[in-house]
Amino acid sequence: MSVAFMRNINHIAKRRIFTSATKLKNLMPDPVEHATGLEKKELLAKLSGIENPFDMRVFKRGPGTKDCPNQIPSAFNSRLLGCICHVEATTIRWMWLYHGYPKRCACGYWFELVYKQPV
Ligand SMILES: [Zn+2]
Repeated sequence: MSVAFMRNINHIAKRRIFTSATKLKNLMPDPVEHATGLEKKELLAKLSGIENPFDMRVFKRGPGTKDCPNQIPSAFNSRLLGCICHVEATTIRWMWLYHGYPKRCACGYWFELVYKQPV
C-alpha cells in the first residue's frame, strides 16, 4: 500500500463524527409552527382548551320530537349526520341535514341544524 493511501486512512479514522439525539431534538419543528390551514386552527383550538373544535363527537340524543328536535351544530348550510337508531344497531344510518329543514330519521328522532361559529 502506498504511503498516501495510508495517510488518507489515518486521516479518516481520526475524523470525529458527533451525533447526538439532543441536538437533533432542537432541529425538529414544533407541530404548531409546522401546521397550516385547518390543521393549524385545530391545533390552536386544542391548545386553548377546546378539545373538539369541529364537533366530531358523538352527541347524546335528546327528546328528538318534531317540536324539540336534536340540535346539530354546523358552520355550513349542510352537514352529514349519522344516527345510531337503536342501542343494538350494528350500522349507522347516514343522512344529510340542511339548515332550515329539520329532518326525521327512520327511527323517529328529529334533527335540526343550528348555526355554529366557524373555528
Ligand atoms: Zn335513527
